[in-house]
Amino acid sequence: MTHADTLSGYTTLRVGGTARELLAPGTRAELIDVAREVWASGEEWLALGGGSNVLIGDDGFDGTVIRTTTRGIDEVGRDGDTVTLRVQAGEPWDEMVAHTVRAGLAGMEALSGIPGSCGASPIQNIGAYGAELSDSLVSIEFLDYLSGELETIPADRLGLGYRTSSLKRGRRGIVISIDIALTDDGALSRPVAYDQLASALGVSLGDRVPVQSVRDTVLSLRSSKGMVLDAADPDSVSAGSFFTNPIVTESFARTLPWDAPRWPSDDDTVKVSAAWLIERAGIRRGFALPGSGAGISNKHTLAIINRGSATASDVAELARFIMERVRNEFGVSLQPEPVYVGIDR
Ligand SMILES: Cc1cc2nc3c(=O)[nH]c(=O)nc-3n(C[C@H](O)[C@H](O)[C@H](O)COP(=O)(O)OP(=O)(O)OC[C@H]3O[C@@H](n4cnc5c(N)ncnc54)[C@H](O)[C@@H]3O)c2cc1C
Repeated sequence: MTHADTLSGYTTLRVGGTARELLAPGTRAELIDVAREVWASGEEWLALGGGSNVLIGDDGFDGTVIRTTTRGIDEVGRDGDTVTLRVQAGEPWDEMVAHTVRAGLAGMEALSGIPGSCGASPIQNIGAYGAELSDSLVSIEFLDYLSGELETIPADRLGLGYRTSSLKRGRRGIVISIDIALTDDGALSRPVAYDQLASALGVSLGDRVPVQSVRDTVLSLRSSKGMVLDAADPDSVSAGSFFTNPIVTESFARTLPWDAPRWPSDDDTVKVSAAWLIERAGIRRGFALPGSGAGISNKHTLAIINRGSATASDVAELARFIMERVRNEFGVSLQPEPVYVGIDR
């Protein structure tokens, strides 16, 4: 196999063995045709965007990987100050965000710097700094694996939640494009909705500031945590946050130490800081198991990084170690955020 088929070259963790075949259709029509052909062959298949939220095993993938590389951002609607854009699946997320910010449109600015493709963005309803894709997503164009048909699915039928959707939970197919609704209102951002962002901007929660300022500030906050892909930053060789913040019942949350950061919601559940639980379980930034090529980022407790020589097994082993420590210490089961392919949790 050539390096081209070695999936480590297509993932931000830089791990993963070879694929039997890797296809990268370049247009929307080719993407649809290729997917239907592969599906008709009955082979195993995997959609892959930027590889920034997958952990692919060292034995690789015994099937066809369909990489989305389709590009295009088009305005498809305008109603008052609301502008709807249709973005093709292979468009890199952050290039799309930069485009909207340059155009003075609000809605994407707090999601600056997230790696990956636009087609993958609904899979886990990406979010950061007080914003989520679901705040702006109108619908997706979806090629359904079961029917082989193209469908437009409205956002409210995607079961979008905190780092989840019906697609992440198992509905199979390929997101061909996404429609997002943005605000064209004097290049002012959506109301700032995250404490750390508000204080870095020197404004109050709920204030609106130039979209470009939000983008610049988010990028700089993210860089300080190794959360922007940067060839010069070894702490960014990761899949971002490796664990989601666990959601527990309100009564269970009372059993946790009083100083555990938590965010209550309306439905008697409480989201607890995974980073805090990991640190309190005795696992610090920079930690690595003896002999392992994987480690915890030096900048962010939630990121597992490839320190240069990691295998997928090293990454999975460290993840298991962390999950076990947190479970033993607090009785909380952490859930990995990346999608595991060909490797056990
Ligand atoms: C440094 C870093 C920082 C990050 N920060 C954040 C953050 O702040 N917030 C956040 O939410 N995430 C974050 N992530 C995670 C990741 O960037 C997002 O989840 C992103 O949306 C994944 O996109 P991708 O194209 O790389 O998906 P991939 O990793 O290629 O795929 C992820 C999953 O989506 C499926 N998939 C991909 N494309 C399609 C498609 N077109 N149709 C159907 N299924 C598809 C794949 O099969 C796989 O199951 C971060 C990752 C890194 C490395």
